[in-house]
Amino acid sequence: MSDPKAQPYRFESTLTVLNNGLEELKSWRVFVGLQHDEYLVSASNAVLADGSSVPGLVGNGTVFAGYPSGDLKTSIETAGDLTQMSTRVDLLGDVIVSGQSQGLVQQCSTNIIADEVEQMFSQDKAAASMACSCGKPLGVAGVNLKTEPVEIPQRQNEKEHEFLLASMSQLPSTSSPTFASPVARFFLRSGIAELHIHEELEPERVDSFDLRTTQLFKLSPVHGLCISASPEAKGKTAYSTGIVVQFRNEKECSSFYRAFERAKNKVSAQDSDLPNKILSVSKSTFDEKTDPYSAEMYFHYYGRLLHQQNMLEDYVRTGTYYAAVTENQADFVGRVVVDVGAGSGILSLFAAQAGAKHVYAVEASEMAEYASKLIAGNPLLAQRITVVKGKVEEIELPEKADILISEPMGTLLVNERMLESYVIARDQFLAPDGKMFPTLGRIHMAPFCDQNLYLEIANKALFWQQEAFYKVNLTPLHEAASQEYFLQPVVDAFDEKLLVARAISHIIDFKSVKEEDLHEIDIPLRFVSTNDSQIHGLACWFDVLFNGSTTQRWLTTAPSEPTTHWYQVRCVLSQPLDVMPGQEITGRLHMIAHSAQSYIIHVTMSTELRGPGAEQGGNLQTSSAKYNLKDPYLRMLQPQGFSLAQDHKPDHDAQISLIEH
Ligand code: SAH
Repeated sequence: MSDPKAQPYRFESTLTVLNNGLEELKSWRVFVGLQHDEYLVSASNAVLADGSSVPGLVGNGTVFAGYPSGDLKTSIETAGDLTQMSTRVDLLGDVIVSGQSQGLVQQCSTNIIADEVEQMFSQDKAAASMACSCGKPLGVAGVNLKTEPVEIPQRQNEKEHEFLLASMSQLPSTSSPTFASPVARFFLRSGIAELHIHEELEPERVDSFDLRTTQLFKLSPVHGLCISASPEAKGKTAYSTGIVVQFRNEKECSSFYRAFERAKNKVSAQDSDLPNKILSVSKSTFDEKTDPYSAEMYFHYYGRLLHQQNMLEDYVRTGTYYAAVTENQADFVGRVVVDVGAGSGILSLFAAQAGAKHVYAVEASEMAEYASKLIAGNPLLAQRITVVKGKVEEIELPEKADILISEPMGTLLVNERMLESYVIARDQFLAPDGKMFPTLGRIHMAPFCDQNLYLEIANKALFWQQEAFYKVNLTPLHEAASQEYFLQPVVDAFDEKLLVARAISHIIDFKSVKEEDLHEIDIPLRFVSTNDSQIHGLACWFDVLFNGSTTQRWLTTAPSEPTTHWYQVRCVLSQPLDVMPGQEITGRLHMIAHSAQSYIIHVTMSTELRGPGAEQGGNLQTSSAKYNLKDPYLRMLQPQGFSLAQDHKPDHDAQISLIEH
């Protein structure tokens, strides 16, 4: 090596993350601090938590998140089986030497900064502690990674994309710096160039600017002003955000300006109407509306066989799909089928069994690999199935489909917002007279009376009524805790006898609904009470129809039918209402989609007050509440309906006929 100080090196490092806590870890994040201008080529078993892609520059460090093997079990669960308790991340990259002396062995320091856990639809955040391979207890632990240099061809120095700043302050309060040691970075995310400014050692605390809407002004030889116009949100005025950045010297300031212009031009080129499609990369509909962390957790969840098995084992669900396809062979024979969100590939295999000419099994999660394997293991069908790994919003297919098949239903039909992907697939791939399996969905709603459930939720906050908890008065938080518990929609199976009025329903026709119609769903409520009782809230469930040309099949999640893995959903009111038989109950169910692939639900229910003076009218008792469908209270410890169905396990056909409408 002629000049070792001026050569780039390849480094290979291994990071081991071990769960030595008492609770299963559903996800982990590790900050790997680096000292030079590292260019990361690959990282096994992990993704970059800021959503940037590999290969790419990782500057002074980056946070890795566990994926696809993010789950780490405990030694208690596994009897100390390290393969289930730990994961190994192999890092491969180039070190671009920036002048200062360095040995042939690079040292990277690693800090575990967060044991962040969020399980998709369920459980509380698990607190877990982690340890590194060196066995140090954590919180924050230091680990040295050995990197072995291998000479590689000179790579163009990309240092100019990252800038250490002297200071950075936010407008309008420019007086106090926002970060102590700010670092500015330019990079492309999903085809959009962004400027990120973050704290040197806390890369997850980041201010990001979309360069399409950002302008840079020179305030002094070492000061710049970045102004970004935030796009106008529905019904809201747009305001600009701004920051003042100070550079360490004039030279760095000028090179920042050049990098800014270059990155911005890159975006303009992509935005312009170029004939070559590959250049005009833009964020997909999915990426635009979905929080990247939510998407990561979502596809991680579905990448696990455990969760696919849970769905496959839902006999009502899988059996109904099977019946709907096999009884309507005429809709499949010789037809092109697209399976939207194929998961394990089961519906693609059903479609191929029913005689499909070709099936495209589109799956975005890592489950696509398993689907290929499963399909390859069924060779008579495999030659007519192609697995396409990717989001349905982002892929291209060589031909139009005669029929779409999918299982896009979440809790309360709409949770997960996958119906929108189903509708996008319809617009993109379905031939004009094509069929959709399922064809439509209905949300059913009815008021219920359940004193036990009401008290159970109200009592959860009792803890906060203690006046001497370790001599501390907890009561100031009682009200807030109570509200928090009532925010959770309850997911369980209940007895239909708890319903106090005939249900009403809201139809979503998958053949005609527009994607935007699913962003906000507003349902007027009107019931007539059959009982003299209290109303503790609104119970909801759904069904979907397979409108085949031979038979119609319904898949239902009604409380009167065998329980499915969707159970039913109940929105419990903190203020119950009193009703008499024949009395009218009016209100509204208003669901607003959010970027974490779910909905905020607003429920309002009113009845007229009865009793003295009520004849004058206008005396309404109203109860309203808000719920986050993403954060349900999973109460189905003893799903009565399901155990009943298990006890009297009917044969296949009898079970199916139970749910026929
Ligand atoms: N069809 C399978 C799996 C249903 S679960 C079965 O019936 O058993 C839904 C699947 O859709 C998940 O595997 C999920 O990863 C996938 N999915 C969700 N949104 C998607 C999208 N936008 N593009 C592609 N796949 C998606």
